[in-house]
Order: sequence, then C-alpha cells, then structure tokens
Amino acid sequence: MHPDPETTRPWTPEDSAALYGIRDWGAGYFDLNERGEVTVKADSPCGQVAVSLMEIVAGIEERGHAMPVLLRIENLLDRQIARLNEAFRDAIGKAGYRGRYRGVFPVKVNQQCQVIEEITRFGAPWGHGLEAGSKAELVLALASLHEDGLLVCNGYKDREFIDLGLWARKLGYRCFFVIESPAELPIILERSEALGVRPLIGVRIKVSAKVGGLWTETSGDRSSFGLNTAQLISVVDALKEHGMLDCLRLLHCHLGSQIPDIQDIRAGVLEACRYYVDLAGEGAPLEYLDLGGGLAVDYVGARANQVHSRNYSLEEYCADIVEVVMTTLDARKVPHPHLITESGRATVAYSSLLLFNVLDVMHFEPAPLPQALPEGAHELVRSLFGVLGALEESDLQECYNDALYYRDEIRDLFKRGQIGLRERSLAENIFLAVARTIASRLDSLEKVPSGLAGLKVSLADIYYGNFSVFQSLPDTWAIDQIFPVMPLHRHGEVPEREAIISDLTCDCDGKLDNFIDARGERKTLPLHPLRDGEEYILGVFLMGAYQETLGDLHNLFGDTHVVSVRINEDGGFDVMKEICGDSIGDVLSYVEYSPQGLFDAFRDRAEAGVRRGTISVPERQRMLEEFSASLRGYTYYER
Ligand code: PLP
Repeated sequence: MHPDPETTRPWTPEDSAALYGIRDWGAGYFDLNERGEVTVKADSPCGQVAVSLMEIVAGIEERGHAMPVLLRIENLLDRQIARLNEAFRDAIGKAGYRGRYRGVFPVKVNQQCQVIEEITRFGAPWGHGLEAGSKAELVLALASLHEDGLLVCNGYKDREFIDLGLWARKLGYRCFFVIESPAELPIILERSEALGVRPLIGVRIKVSAKVGGLWTETSGDRSSFGLNTAQLISVVDALKEHGMLDCLRLLHCHLGSQIPDIQDIRAGVLEACRYYVDLAGEGAPLEYLDLGGGLAVDYVGARANQVHSRNYSLEEYCADIVEVVMTTLDARKVPHPHLITESGRATVAYSSLLLFNVLDVMHFEPAPLPQALPEGAHELVRSLFGVLGALEESDLQECYNDALYYRDEIRDLFKRGQIGLRERSLAENIFLAVARTIASRLDSLEKVPSGLAGLKVSLADIYYGNFSVFQSLPDTWAIDQIFPVMPLHRHGEVPEREAIISDLTCDCDGKLDNFIDARGERKTLPLHPLRDGEEYILGVFLMGAYQETLGDLHNLFGDTHVVSVRINEDGGFDVMKEICGDSIGDVLSYVEYSPQGLFDAFRDRAEAGVRRGTISVPERQRMLEEFSASLRGYTYYER
C-alpha cells in the first residue's frame, strides 16, 4: 500500500486520514496531527483545541493504569447534548413551531454513574431529562435528575415502580407513566387513588411503519412493545370511565434504534401524528409527543442508507420531524405538542473509546524455501513444488486449485501416518508461498476470479489485542456492529500489513474482522508492523452506547479501567475520574467464589506440599504472596 507507487512519495497523515475515514465518522471530534497521532478536538473560548490521544495514553499510564482502558471524554458528551438541543431549537425557531424540545436520555444506553451524572449536570440548563425502563433505572434517575427535566417511565411497571413514580410526582418531577400494556392501567388507577396523586400518563403506540436497519424485523406490527389500536381504545375508554382522561398528556412511539433512512423516520412520525390528532379528538389534553430513539450514528462515515450509517444529518432529522408534526397537526388545527426524543446512541456514542495495546502478531508468511527438494520427497510434495515453479506462466486460479488439491492430499497422508511432520511442514510452507505469490498478483488482474476473492483475507495477519470483545464490544459479536478502529499513532508511516484483530479470549468469535473502508466495509484493517520494545496502541471509537452494560465476563475478563478526561482550554487535559477495573478477586466473586476461600484452599495445598517435602517454607510463603497479588491484579495481560 502506498499513496502513489509511481513517485513513491512518502506516506503522510493525510493519507491515513483518507484510509481510515476518520474525518467521515469522526463528526469533527477526531483528526490526525502532523506528528501522525490521532487527536480529539474540543471547543474552547479561543476556538477549537486538539489533544493527542497518545498524550492522554501517556498520562493514563503515568497514573498507574495499564491498558486496556475505557477513555471517556466529557467534552464530547456535553457537546452532543448541546448539538441535539441546539439543532431542535433552531429547527423549531426556523419553522415557527409553537412547542419546545424536551430531550430525555434513555438510561439503558449507558447507565454508568459518571455518564448519568454528566448528562444530568450538563443537560440541566437545557431541561434535558431521563427515560427509565425499569425500577432500578427509575431509582437512579430520581436520585440524579434536576426537577426541570422530564422523567419518562417506559417498560412494564409493577406496583412498586408505579409508587416510586407517584412519589416523584409529589416531589415535583414531571414523571410520565407510559402505558406499554393494558395490564398496567388498573395498577396506575389504584395506586394513584391510594396515594392521592394525579398521574401523568402516556400511551405507547405500535406504529405499523417498518424501519430499515438492524431491527427491521422487530419494527412495525411485530414490535414487542406498545398498544395496538384496539388496546389503545380500551385504555382511552377506561380513562374516560374513571374520569382520568385529563391525565393522558403524552403519546409515545419508538420506531427502532439506528434508523438509517430519513424517509422511514418521516413515515413513522407522520403515522404517530395521526394517532395524536385522533386522541386529541377523543378529548385527551395531550401536550407531549415522544418519538423515542432511532437517531442513528454514522459509524462508517458513509452518510448513506446502510445499517451502520445514516443518510441524514442531525439538522435534517430535527427539521424533518418539526415539519411533519407541524404540517400534520396544523391541517387539523391541533396545538403543537412539545417534542420529546429519547436519543441514546447519538448522545453517548462519541464520548467513549476503548484503548488497547497489541501483544503479538501471527503472520502467514512462508519461511525461506530450499532451492531444491530433499531427496526422497513424496511425489505430491514434488507436484506442489512444481506449482510454485510454474506460477509465472500459468493461470492463477488453476495454480491455486492444484496447490489446494496437493496440500489437502498431503494432509491426508499425514493423518494416515504415511508422511512425517517435517515433510508436512515443508508442504505447508510451499503452499503458503504459492498462496502469497498469487495474492500479490491479484491487484494487477482486470478481474479477480471469484475463487480467489477471499485469498488475501485468509492470509491476513492476526494482531492480538489486549481486550475482550465480549466485555468491551459485545455488539460486534452479537449483532455484527462495526465500530471505527485505528492505530492512535505512526500515521506518518505506511500501514503496510493487512490484519484482523483477535482478543484475549480463547474464543474464535473474540475478534474484530469487519472494518470501515472508504467504499463501504472491508475484512482486514491496514496496520503497522510491530516494533521491538515499543507499544502499538489501537483505539476503538464511538463505542459509548450500549457496550458497557451489555458486556459480559467471558473467560473472566472483567471491566477495564475507566479514565474520564476533560480537554482544557490550553490544549491539555485534566483527569476527572479514574475507576479501577475489576480485579481477579472481583470477577471470581461475581461467579460466586470467595477470594478468601480460594486463598485459604491454596494455602492448605501449599502447606500439604511442605508436609510432603515438595516445597520449602520460604517457597510456600512466596507462592502465597503471589497468589494473593494475583487476586488483587488486573484481569488483562500485564507487561
Ligand atoms: N427509547 C426506547 C423506548 C428504546 O427502546 C430505545 C432503544 O432501543 C431508545 C429509546 C434509544 O434508542 P437510540 O439509542 O437509537 O437513540
């Protein structure tokens, strides 16, 4: 790979920026500096400041935290909340819309205390609220939220959930119960009467409009949540019957997450507005239209109607929603509602990055081959060697077919004990040389034969990263989510290797093998060769949404360290919070071991060793100290 093979002009950070698409998916937050390092940008009163992520890594390591680290950049979280609120404010102002924007953050997207604290603190001047989908989320929301923020309660609610929400009403919160199922209504009616509180009620409808993207199958009629039209009517009738229709203030719909196509959003909002108009016609004094989540993140920077992207800007999203609501409601002379969205991923994705070091690389390169085969080499090995010699003048696909055939026959001979390990190893090496040579010629072909299309990928290096996919990036495994991945440094050098990234778990699914490319997606990532004695640090970007709480303990890799920084005005950064990752003792206790019990059991074994005379007492002591240190140690690879 070279920017211009004709002139062999040196590789520059500009080439890297284009290769990794950082300016396309970085949303103006990430870039490269002239030293070839990835920078994060933040606003300051004197303009934008940019800080190198490698400087932040050095600062983290100086403070005693080894990789991997989850880095949170507070400024980006603040900026996203501001961007969302500003974009709606501008769209509302431009259109002459007569409602306000009242955003809420869905707690399930990132429940971490520090994230919620920052959202509620920074969101306060905007009146940005929270959405809770369970009792636990409501409890944390009640303890964190300022009174001006809306509190929207979704999910199935039992009596305790409803009581908590009613107390919140007494405390002055604008806390809405969104009815997801008709079974919730009798409990709301009974508890509000018992506690003497008039509840604020919302109804969640199932819109029939289907949306594209990863959740197509669960959108539309098949969505698991919300009321169908018959249920909606029965809820309205029950409210009327109990003289409580005046409590019905909010209409809620959630079309799906990560909606790539703006037309789907328009269609869904239009349908929701039709419900709004008719419910208002039933006499409900509706004030709020809650359009749920769905605002997509352009993870691949393609700005296209594709699953990991979106074909619209934030400004377009806001303007289109305002326009659809306004035109639909104006036609029926229904007053404009306040608009709520529950944007989760678009709020938090940008502010978190996973940083990890590379521990090792496996190359699929042949060792130097002999000029001639040893005497007595098997006939099939000779034939395979012949393919290598004939590559110059033969058809590449044909050569590959032959080489594969001979290699597989040789493997069979080995299995049957007819050739030995050394001869098999020689044959594997010849095969690798054939495959490498063919792969190197593919770029010069006008059309790559389909049988050779996956060859380069099958020869890609495997870079071993110090992290766990299952703990830190579970969506890459569960739903094939793509996150931008790139080295944080060395962008003045050609990334000459093609690689996939394997994690530390002994699981063949523990890998990253789908990456961003200027033309869409690619199966390998260009990386730099490792250098002796120098760490190579990669970053996974835009992973602040959903990953932290969905992560699991596969292979008992625990939470990584978390470091939160704030970029300051003079282009430096302040470390705001440090949370140590799980220790080995912690993760063992999550799976019901007692670290003390484990220590005691190990001590008994060591003492038995002393009794048998296999170890000395000082050795016993050393072992126990190391065992104890391991229980306190990090679950990831430590240099
Ligand atoms: N609101 C509800 C009811 C949801 O189920 C979800 C997630 O699916 C969201 C909001 C957040 O969606 P997003 O992260 O796409 O903004």
